[in-house]
Amino acid sequence: MRNEDKTIHEFDFNFICDFFLNMERQGPGSPEATLKALGFIDNLTDKSLIADIGCGTGGQTMVLAQHAPGSITGIDLFPGFIGRFNSNAGKLNLQDRVKGIVGSMDNLPFRDEELDLIWSEGAIYNIGFERGLREWRSLLKTGGYIAVSESSWFTEKRPAEIHDFWMSVYPEIDTIPNKMAQIQKAGYIPVASFILPETCWTDHYHAPQAAAQEKFLHKYAGNKTAEEFIAFQRREAELYRKYKEFYGYVFYIAKKIEQ
Ligand code: SAH
Repeated sequence: MRNEDKTIHEFDFNFICDFFLNMERQGPGSPEATLKALGFIDNLTDKSLIADIGCGTGGQTMVLAQHAPGSITGIDLFPGFIGRFNSNAGKLNLQDRVKGIVGSMDNLPFRDEELDLIWSEGAIYNIGFERGLREWRSLLKTGGYIAVSESSWFTEKRPAEIHDFWMSVYPEIDTIPNKMAQIQKAGYIPVASFILPETCWTDHYHAPQAAAQEKFLHKYAGNKTAEEFIAFQRREAELYRKYKEFYGYVFYIAKKIEQ
């Protein structure tokens, strides 16, 4: 595999953590997109239990907490992100309702039917969309919701360069109707889907990265892994600029039904 085709998982976790730690978020998204998705969810009360899976430093979690009742547990594999998550929650005085814990999305510490809402922005790809929908479903109450953002194709066909890139990093990327069908088959009502606006990538994801990349390269001057990591980030942003009419992130909101 060529280095520029490596997935983010293959780089040293510490580099990734160090790079993303000071970013407001670790994937494409925005407060507006989070709130739009939240607008489709109507079952929450002060007693609700919410999980934000692959929460990173909690950019979207804090927005959720400020606009939804209930308690939120954020889960992420990187202890560094969770440390920052909990200090962010403290700064916003949300520590009584918002807690970050270190854990993995393939082994979640919740009981069956415990959760009212599962949230996951730009992270379900780590377990795979269909597997995540299937395995996380048992943790949701009947009538509970799942809201996830996931990379998706906008068209039936696309240029080979972008097709090949996605096949090498995440072959589960699929068209919106196919993702909706997967949601239905997994035992949910597909309530809504919407494409994240371009600014979720450009202003909220790529622009803050561009400034951090220079600093990072300076800090790790001569380090091959660090250079490869930044080369991957830059290639990803360049491909987005070139092919953004063919793919992007889509928010999917679904409701668990009895099966
Ligand atoms: N939701 C955040 C972060 C998205 S980036 C945002 O939108 O800004 C994806 C996140 O998934 C990273 O924080 C990464 O550490 C986390 N992650 C990767 N594999 C994971 C796993 N197996 N379990 C839990 N989190 C994981």
